[in-house]
This record gives sequence, C-alpha cells and structure tokens, in this order.
Amino acid sequence: MSTRRFSRALVVNRNLQFLNNDLMVMAKETKKHPKAFIEYMKFIVMHDNFKDMPDAYCNSGDVQWATPSNRSSGKFKDSHRKREIWWQKKAMQLGIEVDEGNAWKNRTAKVNHPTKMKPCVICGKIMDLRYSYANKNLIRRIQNLSYFDKSFTIEYPEHILSLIKRLFEMYGNRIFEDLPALLKTSSIETPLLEPNLETWLDWIGKKYIPAEPSMLSPGAMSNVPDRFDGFHNYNICCRSKADKGRSKENLQSYNTDRRAFEYWVDGDWVAADTLMGLIRNKKFQEEPCLNGHRGPCTADHIGPISLGFSHRPEFQFLCRECNSAKNNRMFLSDVVHLRNAEYIGDTVASWYCKALWDLRKDYVVDEETAHRLGKLLRDNRHTMMTMLNLIVSRGHFTFLSTLLGLSYADYDVYFDNLRIEAHITRFDRLLKKRRVTKYATEQKARRVRVAFQALSDYTDKGKRNALVISSDAVMRKIDNAFEILDQVPPTLYGNSELAFLLSKGNPSEEKLRLAVKLIPGPTDEPKNYIDAKLQIKDAVAIIAKKFSDMWTDDRYIRPSFTDDI
Ligand SMILES: [Zn+2]
Ligand SMILES: [Zn+2]
Repeated sequence: MSTRRFSRALVVNRNLQFLNNDLMVMAKETKKHPKAFIEYMKFIVMHDNFKDMPDAYCNSGDVQWATPSNRSSGKFKDSHRKREIWWQKKAMQLGIEVDEGNAWKNRTAKVNHPTKMKPCVICGKIMDLRYSYANKNLIRRIQNLSYFDKSFTIEYPEHILSLIKRLFEMYGNRIFEDLPALLKTSSIETPLLEPNLETWLDWIGKKYIPAEPSMLSPGAMSNVPDRFDGFHNYNICCRSKADKGRSKENLQSYNTDRRAFEYWVDGDWVAADTLMGLIRNKKFQEEPCLNGHRGPCTADHIGPISLGFSHRPEFQFLCRECNSAKNNRMFLSDVVHLRNAEYIGDTVASWYCKALWDLRKDYVVDEETAHRLGKLLRDNRHTMMTMLNLIVSRGHFTFLSTLLGLSYADYDVYFDNLRIEAHITRFDRLLKKRRVTKYATEQKARRVRVAFQALSDYTDKGKRNALVISSDAVMRKIDNAFEILDQVPPTLYGNSELAFLLSKGNPSEEKLRLAVKLIPGPTDEPKNYIDAKLQIKDAVAIIAKKFSDMWTDDRYIRPSFTDDI
C-alpha cells in the first residue's frame, strides 16, 4: 500500500470532516494550493482548538494564515507577537511547560492539532504529524540488513507501518529477529514480541510512534506561531522543494548503488545512479521483466558489479525472482550484450578486470563458458581487492582515490528521450550540467568513505574459497609502483589528511570533504600517479594472463562449484 493511500485510510478512520462554508474566501495566492490544503485551512480556522486566534482574518475577510515576524508596519505588524502569546496560553491549558527553547512549541502544536493529519501545500499528500516516517537513521539500518538488496525500494517519506509491512512482504519472518535492533534507540528498549506482523504493527502504532523515536520524523515540522495551525505549510515530502538544497542530497543518496563504490568499479556512477532512481519512478513500475514476468522490476546491471563490470547507465529489467536467480552469474546473453555494447564504444569492464575480460570474452559460446568466465572474474576480483589493500597499507590514499572516478560528481545528468526497449533502458543523449561544488564534494566524500571502508571490511571477512594470484613478477611491478609513489611527499594532495581520516572507523564528514577537495582530477594528476598506474596496469595484465591460463582448470569447469560472491 502506498503511503498516500495509507494516510487517506487513517483520515477516514478519524472521521475527519472538512467543513464547507461560505465564510472563507481565500486570498488569490491560495488558488494554486491543492484542493486538500484549501479544505484543510477552512477546517482548521473553524475548529474549536484554534478559537480566538488573534488577527484570524485580513481586511479583505480572507484568512490570515501566515503571520511573518518581520512586519514593521501596518495593522498586522504585531500579529506574530500576539499569536506567540496565544500559543503560550494554549500550552499552559494543555499542561505543557513554556521554557526557553522551541520544544514546547513543537509539543503544543502537535497536542493541539485536532486530527494529527495535514495535507502538504505543494503536493497535497496528507501526512501524519506524529513521529511516524522512517528517517535517514532508520533507512541506513535497513540498508545494512544482511539480506537487504537493491530490489527493495525505500520510498521517502514512508510511514513506518507501511514500511514494516512491505519489509515483511519482501523478506518474510526473518525481519522479526531484526526489528528490535532496527527500532532500538537510546531511550526506547524494544520489547520481545511474538514474531507476527499484527503484534509488531500494534506495538509500533501504540507505543513506538508516541515515544517520538529518533528513527522517525514527523510528517511536517512545527512552525509556531508563523502558521495558523502551528506547522509548516509543506510536509516533509516536499521539504526539499520548499527548502532548497537542504535535503535534496539525502534523498538522492538513497538511489546510489553502494556496491559500485564497494567494488571500486569504473563508469559514470552519477549517471548510473540517476538512471536507477528514474527506473524506480512510477512510470516504469509496470514494465515487465526480461523473462516476461510482471513488475515491479529491479534495475539489473547486465555485467555484474561484483565481478568488476562498470556501473554504467544501462540496466535491464528483472523481476525479483529472476534477479535473485541471476545472483551475479554471467549468462550467455549478458556476455553477448556486453560485447555488443563495447563494439559501439561503451566501456563495460573496469580497469582491473578488462585484461581478463579481453582475453576470454570471445571464448564464451554457451551458458557453461559464460558461467566459467564469471567464476574467473570473481577470483580476479579477490586478487584485486587484496592488491588495493596492499596499496592502502602503504598509505597511498590520495593515489587510490584517483581510481574512483570522482570527477563524475561534478555534473548533473539528464537523459534525453529515456525509454525501455526490449527490457533494457535506452536514451538518445546524456546531457550534463555542471553542479554546485558543495553537492559534488559531498558525493565524492561519500564515495571515498564507502570505498575505503569496504576495502577494510573485505580483508576482515577473510573470504573462503578465494583464489588469490600472486607472483614475483606481480610483486615486482607493485614494488615499482610503490617506489614511484613514495617519491610524492605524503603531505601533498591531502594524502596525510585522508590517511588519518580513513584509518578511523567513522571519519568526520566535514573534514573528509575538505580533504577530498585536494584530490587531483583526471587532468591534473601528478606524473608519479600516472607512472604508478602503468606499473599497476602491468601487474593486472600478468594476473589476467595467469587466470586466463586456468580457463580449463578443474576449479572453473567443475559444475559443483558453488558461488560464494
Ligand atoms: Zn508534498
Ligand atoms: Zn522475471
């Protein structure tokens, strides 16, 4: 159920009746407000809870909904102050202590509100004013669930009850084991409840939401005494539009594919993430799966990210079942598609798997050989992550960061004539527009943080079944690279700062942003970096050759081999 329908249902349950009366003639500017908002204003102004609101009407007879604090003259220059006093009295009536801060205003606005539901002035969506929408904290926790995958779309804002219901529909009973940890806050101990949906929804509705947990946000922020009802006109759904730039970043980051950062893959990640976000758009939700199944579908990278294929703005539509069946395997159709994409000029394989891909891509003639190439690429990836960690251990953080394609973040992208053809995304042109530096820097810092964190997690996990290729020839090349890199003073290009920040578990986002600004872009990299990359490229080529020579090895042909990706 969508949030919107969910909220409507609540409204009906509360027998909310908007009044229709002829007292109200709304000011001209309200004409463009959604009908729901205009009805809501009428309802509030007539409601007993707002009785005796000072200066309720303008001279024209219109409702005086807003009383800004900056009026210096005119009949209503004191309205703001008068209403502040009205709210103070209201607080006292309701037994709420009026103190220095704003907490009493939030509290009073909420307690006084007759329905606790309010439409948004921009989109008309009716939302719950109580703390009931999953915020960034909770979304992050959900995304960290071991079984969470990108086929589960987290909408923002989504009511917690609807979100828990959808998690249950998607992942079944196992969510009950995780709910206590998901919902826990420093002030709320989650109880041991029966593992069933009704019990949990009941507890969340009756206990958790009223406790105003830090995992949830209210549908609208209070704005006493500026607005008649004590709330901002826009709800959190449109906060980014009303309050430009503030939460746009947060919303967009939900669309990023973390795995592209974790596996250090190439590709225009900003374009790919943007496209991924667009696919989640309602317009494409009905699109059937590649194998003809009904949607909603997930955006599948045709070449798996986890094997080192690029994060490119091209996806095929797979339903959830087909997506989990694919499970990072390579199919013949995938390989054929990727070869064709290369033929027209796309870069499909990242720098660390291109050599191996090039050596063996033409040997793929059936499902078995496609799968076999996938297994080789998987071991190749293990080897590369090990190599990257070796470079980390020598402290070359800035150098490594130049492998992350950070400069893609300098542009916003637009797709000209985006459409779906044969279950694959298509567009005529990719248009780019330079972005504000602040947003670009935030995106870059995030990519750097996630990428280095993933590397350190990668070693911690100690992959079973991994085959890592190493040889004297490889080590010689890497040593050459170190020799070249060691000549760059560690204080240059923010390397010391990055090394310090990224060695910590949870680096300060602000300091990281400053350090990231010092990372050279593709056109101003020092010669040492370029030379070191050539050495590393040689090492990659040697490794690729060794894997390629194992094409007929038992390890890769044996059918019982299980994927542990
Ligand atoms: Zn809205
Ligand atoms: Zn399917």
